[in-house]
Amino acid sequence: MTRIEVVGVTRTFGSDDRSVTALADVNLHITDGQMVALMGPSGSGKTTLLNMISALDRPNSGEILMDGVAIAAISDEARATLRQRIGFIFQRFALIPTASAYENIEFALRIAQIPRDEWQARITRTLTQLDMLDHAHHRPGELSGGQQQRIAIARALATDPPLIIADEPTANLDSHRGATVLELFRTLCQHGKTIVMSTHDAAAERYATHICRMQAGRVTNFAPPVTTGAGPTSPPQSAKASKKRKAPHSD
Ligand code: ADP
Ligand code: MG
Repeated sequence: MTRIEVVGVTRTFGSDDRSVTALADVNLHITDGQMVALMGPSGSGKTTLLNMISALDRPNSGEILMDGVAIAAISDEARATLRQRIGFIFQRFALIPTASAYENIEFALRIAQIPRDEWQARITRTLTQLDMLDHAHHRPGELSGGQQQRIAIARALATDPPLIIADEPTANLDSHRGATVLELFRTLCQHGKTIVMSTHDAAAERYATHICRMQAGRVTNFAPPVTTGAGPTSPPQSAKASKKRKAPHSD
């Protein structure tokens, strides 16, 4: 993994007379080591596209190929195996409310069939990366939105998946924490992982290898970010541009 081809994908919701076209003939080609930031207004189809790539939803027409294999055609078993190789970071985190941060990550490792003797080291490593080790035994309800988001990210990274799919992974983080996460993502991509994330965070343009602009269900541009001089090798020391952050949005 990972070569993702999105070929002529259209997804509509609702019945004929009241249908919404969430994706309209989307074509995209993503390969190993790319960090792709989907950017566009709310409702432009970012989440729908991520759900397609994750095989959580199916297109009405067109197809998604993973390493050349059309995922619509694969067996349920192969689909489950595919999902094991994806680290998901959901917009609403999808943490288990009754389990601690530590147990939430443990659960993901169990699902991914990671040997039990590796669990502790992996959990400690990722919680440390996200600066959440001190909160390992807190439940989601005892954590802020930003802390929950960092647990969700730690959980996705703990299985060491080749592909990470993240829906607005920095939406609840302040600019410094957000930049730390983007920097971590960038490093993972430099080591060969593929990351596809949606974001409203302008800082993503300093870290992503590619920006995928979306507008009304269409990809309007897919290209490396226009460099402003502050590349990922020299992340900004003061995040002035993102200081006036909006309150976390909830689209
Ligand atoms: P974004 O993530 O860019 O905000 P979405 O992919 O969530 O956009 O939504 C794209 C469009 O599809 C929106 O108009 C949204 O209302 C619609 N949509 C998404 N999911 C559904 C659904 N399950 N049922 C009906 N409409 C949906
Ligand atoms: Mg969305």
